[in-house]
Amino acid sequence: MLKDIFIGLSQNQLLINAAKKYGLRLGAQTVVAGTNLDEAIRSIKELNAHGISCTVDNLGEFVFNEKEARTAKEQILEVIQAIHERDVDAHISIKPTQLGLNIDYNLCLNNVREIAAKAKQYNLFVNIDMEDSSHLVPTFNLVDELSVEFENIGTVIQAYYHNAMEYLEKYQNYQIRIVKGAYKEPEDIAYQDKQDIDSNYIKLIEWHLLHGKFTSIATHDHHIINHVKRFVKKHRIPYDKFEFQMLYGFRKELQLKLAEEGYPFCTYVPFGNDWYGYFMRRLAERPQNLNLVAKQIFNKKTNTVLGVAAGAFILGRMTKSNKKKRK
Ligand SMILES: Cc1cc2nc3c(=O)[nH]c(=O)nc-3n(C[C@H](O)[C@H](O)[C@H](O)COP(=O)(O)OP(=O)(O)OC[C@H]3O[C@@H](n4cnc5c(N)ncnc54)[C@H](O)[C@@H]3O)c2cc1C
Repeated sequence: MLKDIFIGLSQNQLLINAAKKYGLRLGAQTVVAGTNLDEAIRSIKELNAHGISCTVDNLGEFVFNEKEARTAKEQILEVIQAIHERDVDAHISIKPTQLGLNIDYNLCLNNVREIAAKAKQYNLFVNIDMEDSSHLVPTFNLVDELSVEFENIGTVIQAYYHNAMEYLEKYQNYQIRIVKGAYKEPEDIAYQDKQDIDSNYIKLIEWHLLHGKFTSIATHDHHIINHVKRFVKKHRIPYDKFEFQMLYGFRKELQLKLAEEGYPFCTYVPFGNDWYGYFMRRLAERPQNLNLVAKQIFNKKTNTVLGVAAGAFILGRMTKSNKKKRK
């Protein structure tokens, strides 16, 4: 129920606009590394100082006009340039819908191609994030077409799909991030039950650790992390074959602990004005994430995320355009 509410809120255009206007004063700064590149680089440097590398997401998605898609591409090219010039340990993550996938496949393909080429110039990896099921096939098509030209790209496999193992086998020779899956998907294609998703997740991780090129284990789930630690030890998986990944601002102590223990660790660092949808989806995944902003709620006189969420809930209920569900 709460998941549906937050997913609905993540698409509310009124609130998206308000969020852009009022910046991060709604509590999201805990999980978004700033609204501009300088702030993001500062956050990356802090993480790098702890031995943590980063994958940078210049927030944005579900763009429906060509100009916005090209602007998004230009901004991502600037991020790549900044990573190189400021010599930080980071690569990038991109979302195809931000780069025009909903407008025209070839527009998106060319945008991603330019990004991959620029990243290649600086020996940087580009992760093509996986969005909802309606974008699954075209996203894999992007990966297939571009991997003929570039070796520095990889993508994401979502464990909630019944046929996730087939995808994983197909992308065995890629750097793959394995996640549980963040979107609301129908039961004919995706597991709904947490236990089913978790057991498929473990199966995929184990398989790719043994047979794949490089595995990014992207989860905040300490049960799974502990399982993976035991598995890599038992099977002597080299440390250059995998990494743990978590989102910026989540389970910070655990992120630092894993890095201190010597595990390869990468934090997903989202930044930019378009943070609202990302933030709402994190609340959808785990409403307890509201705890993350509780401190600010009690410290600040400005608008609070709870107030906004409550108002948004009412608006969301009133707004018919909220009906279609999304990640
Ligand atoms: C780096 C990264 C990249 C991602 N990229 C994508 C993508 O491209 N496409 C996509 O669909 N999804 C993506 N996701 C989201 C992912 O699919 C999940 O929706 C999300 O990670 C939540 O699942 P989980 O495995 O973290 O743990 P959950 O199943 O949410 O939680 C499992 C357990 O872990 C513990 N836990 C979890 N979070 C916390 C917390 N904050 N504090 C304390 N305990 C906690 C709790 O005990 C909880 O019961 C990404 C996630 C990460 C971390």
